[in-house]
Amino acid sequence: MQAIKRRDFLHGALATVGAIGLRDPIWALANAPNAVGALPLLLGADYYPDQTPESLWEEDARMMADFGITNVRIAEFAWGLMEPSEGKFDFGWLRRSVEILHKHNIAVILGTPSAAPPPWLTAKYPDVVEVNAHGEPLHPGGRRFTCPTNKTYRKLSLAIATEMARTFAETPGVIGWQIDNEFTLSDSPRCYCNFCRAGFQEWARQKYGSLEKLNRAWGTAFWSQTYTDFAQIPVPLPSGGDPNPGLALDYNRYQSYANVSFLDEQWTMLRKVCPQHFVTTNNVGLIDYINERDLYAKLDFVAFDNYPGFFKMLMEQQANSEAGSWDAILTMIAMSHDLGRSLKDGKPFVIMEEQSGKAGQRTFSPQPEKGQLRLWTYQAVAHGAMGVNYFRWDTATSGAEEYWHGILQHDRSPSPGFDEMRQTLKELKALGRDVLESQYVADAAVIFDYDSSWAVPIQPGHFRLSYLPQVTAWYGTLSPSHTGIDVIVPGADLSPYKIVVAPLPYVVSQAQADRIRTFVKNGGTFVAGFRLGAKNEFSQIVRTPLPGLLRDVMGVTVEDYVPIYSGKPGVTFSGALAGPDGTCGIWADILQPSSAEVLATYTNFSHAGKAAITRNSFGKGKAVYVGADLDPTSLARLLRSLAASAGVQTPLEVPPGVEMTVRQAGGKRWMFLMNNKPDAQTVKLAKPGTDLLTGRARSESIELSGYGVQVLQLG
Ligand SMILES: [Zn+2]
Repeated sequence: MQAIKRRDFLHGALATVGAIGLRDPIWALANAPNAVGALPLLLGADYYPDQTPESLWEEDARMMADFGITNVRIAEFAWGLMEPSEGKFDFGWLRRSVEILHKHNIAVILGTPSAAPPPWLTAKYPDVVEVNAHGEPLHPGGRRFTCPTNKTYRKLSLAIATEMARTFAETPGVIGWQIDNEFTLSDSPRCYCNFCRAGFQEWARQKYGSLEKLNRAWGTAFWSQTYTDFAQIPVPLPSGGDPNPGLALDYNRYQSYANVSFLDEQWTMLRKVCPQHFVTTNNVGLIDYINERDLYAKLDFVAFDNYPGFFKMLMEQQANSEAGSWDAILTMIAMSHDLGRSLKDGKPFVIMEEQSGKAGQRTFSPQPEKGQLRLWTYQAVAHGAMGVNYFRWDTATSGAEEYWHGILQHDRSPSPGFDEMRQTLKELKALGRDVLESQYVADAAVIFDYDSSWAVPIQPGHFRLSYLPQVTAWYGTLSPSHTGIDVIVPGADLSPYKIVVAPLPYVVSQAQADRIRTFVKNGGTFVAGFRLGAKNEFSQIVRTPLPGLLRDVMGVTVEDYVPIYSGKPGVTFSGALAGPDGTCGIWADILQPSSAEVLATYTNFSHAGKAAITRNSFGKGKAVYVGADLDPTSLARLLRSLAASAGVQTPLEVPPGVEMTVRQAGGKRWMFLMNNKPDAQTVKLAKPGTDLLTGRARSESIELSGYGVQVLQLG
């Protein structure tokens, strides 16, 4: 009876919400089971009964309930226990675990286990392994080492997922699914095996229809690469010279498609077998191996993993220095949250794994400082999260992640962050439904373009030029407090924004050019970085003068483009931007204005006196071309000045290191203020508000403790 009631409730909720035109009814889905109650939040942990003696499960569930956890995610790495040999399934242990959790009012998200196949599978079907960019096969023993195209692996992955779905479709307490685990995680993010080669050939046949069109799109006359049969098309493995850029970009698209279609097979089954459950997957923050707009298109909400301390440790390790500053890490994480929210047009997202202690495999980050675990949890909610699951409940005593510390330590005693996380969950539940269901407020957008991110590394033009650092720099300088920015992908509606900025927009399709033209014509401000529209969607260089399809909108012609290897050209600002001189780093587009005004020129350079930055009036709007790779201070001054001119208002001036977001619902507005610094900081308020956590009125200023957080209800 319980399951029928739940389904009836969901159908009713979906129909009601659909009829009145509200946003996706995630809350209804997430909160349907009595286990979660009326909270619009999933506050949980990632839990591994498969790695824990059964004698401890009851104690775990009791402790979790006491801790304030509403849900767990389980089983995503338990294929071997659920299918000990091919076609022989054993879900008894998982059912017992779910029943115990449900008894303690803890809801369950089940993970399908295709990220880590059991040894019997790879022994019997050795060709399921991925082949890396050097043409070498990966080996079993780790995870994420399988080919996304391989039909045998897909069939076996779907089979175990289907058995799980049928087994738990009506089980009380099960509320949703995570498909696979971290599609975007890999030391080698592309597979180059023969199955992928055949898949790519078929994908190309579907895309182009004929070899004539394909040869034209890729420009295969170069190096005698004209294909006379689709079966001749190679994958970009080492070949005594760089691959055809059009083929290489399409191969990235194919690999993204292969992973998305792998997910899609499981999604189609889950939607049919478990219509009352939500379905999502978890990616690794802001990593662009897969087009995440496609990955999440059919899923109920976006979910991803968030490990600030681990990322910092990783950056320092990769740079062999202390380069991983907290400012840079938290900017990337804020941007990741804003992308996660924007991928589904503002719908709330879930942090499926949130750092809960020391984190890492061979080496691990230190225990987060007092206040940081709370801060990172609030940062996610402030940017639009509806759920945070701490990774993990207890800490493994065996396996590659023994040092990825959880809420409980190896001896099951409370971790150093235990009380802080418990207090955070308590506070979030007390925030109230209004604030947690409110909309994020953004007047500005940064474009994150998968095509450009994949095309730039094929031919970066400068060995130090890469896409993600450019996007991060523009995001972080447009608003150092990470306030009011959506991170959108091409195809998104531009009309809600006053200003849209596009760092390193290397590939511009006709459709994207049309959207930008319309946006500016209607009064928007569009700001493009250097290399605008150098490539068309086939990764061919456009035959028209740059910036190609947008030359009329920008009102300039790119006279030359110059990678800078020694020295730094100066940049002198003029007119409305008159102020301190800046410098140009690794790239300079030399601009020749036609109708645009010049905002800055190059100095100390062979192109001295030429335009570096221009602004054009087009229709009712403005189009700004930033030809120079500006130093951070100048870029910040430029972008903030342009945002202010476009009508973007900063709700409050906050000290460096303080992050601020605003969420609103109906006539109510809430401001999240988060101090990313270890020392206390004072924020002067523009308007009075009420501290939502204490109920105290605040009128002039508030003191944020080191790593402190305040949520103010305004007005
Ligand atoms: Zn493959």
